[in-house]
Amino acid sequence: MSARVLIVEDEVTIAESLVFNLESEGFGCFHAPDGESAIRAVSEQSFDFIILDVGLPDRSGFEICREIRLTSGVPILFLTARSEEIDRILGLELGGDDYVTKPFSGREVVSRMRAILRRSQGSGIKSLNGPSEENQLRRKGSRSDLVVDIARARIVYLGTPLTLTRYEFKLLATLMERPGWVFSREQLMSIVWESPDMSLERTVDTHIKTIRAKLKLIDPTRDLIMTHRGFGYSLREDV
Ligand code: CA
Repeated sequence: MSARVLIVEDEVTIAESLVFNLESEGFGCFHAPDGESAIRAVSEQSFDFIILDVGLPDRSGFEICREIRLTSGVPILFLTARSEEIDRILGLELGGDDYVTKPFSGREVVSRMRAILRRSQGSGIKSLNGPSEENQLRRKGSRSDLVVDIARARIVYLGTPLTLTRYEFKLLATLMERPGWVFSREQLMSIVWESPDMSLERTVDTHIKTIRAKLKLIDPTRDLIMTHRGFGYSLREDV
C-alpha cells in the first residue's frame, strides 16, 4: 500500500515538482498551498508523512507543526530556505523529524523521506494517534533505554534521570534525535549553543566527556556515544 503524503508548500513550482517526484516513486500526494488548508487536510484525511514548508503565506510552518503535534505524531520533514531555522526544527520545542534546505532535488527529498519512514516503522510508531507527549517521548528516544522526558526537560537512562547541565542536555538530546547519524563538532556547536564560537569546538569534546561519565555511572559496561575521528560524534543505533 502506498504511503500518503501531505505537501504543504505555497510555491507552486516547488509543490508540482515534489508531487511529480513522489508520485513517480509510488507515493500518493495531497497538496495544501497554505497553513489553514494543511490543518483542514490533516483533520479530514489521514497521512503517513508531511512535507512542511516553514515560510507559508498565512501562518508559519512552525505553528502548523505545533498544531499537528497536538493530535498526531506523523513524521514531518521541513523545507527551509534559511539555515538559522534548522536548530529550531531539530529542537525539542517542535519535534520535526528532519529538514531539507532549498534549493533541493526531488531525489534528496525522497531519500530523506524513506529514511524517516524506515526509522519510524522500525520503532513501531507507524500509526500515531495517541497523546502528543507520549508520541514525542517515543519519537525522541524511540528506544526505551534512553528517553527524553520533554515535560521535565530531562533525559532518563535505564530508568534513572541523568543530572545534566543545560548544554549537556541539549547535546545528548540532539544526538538522540538521529541515532547513528554522525554530527560534526561544528554542527553540534551551532545546534546546541546560542552564540557558537567556532574556535571553541573543543567545548563539544569537553561536554561529550562529561555526558559519557554520567552515563557510565549508571552502566559502566556500555559507551553509548561513538567518536568518529576527524568527523565528530554519534549515538549508537542499538541503544
Ligand atoms: Ca514558502
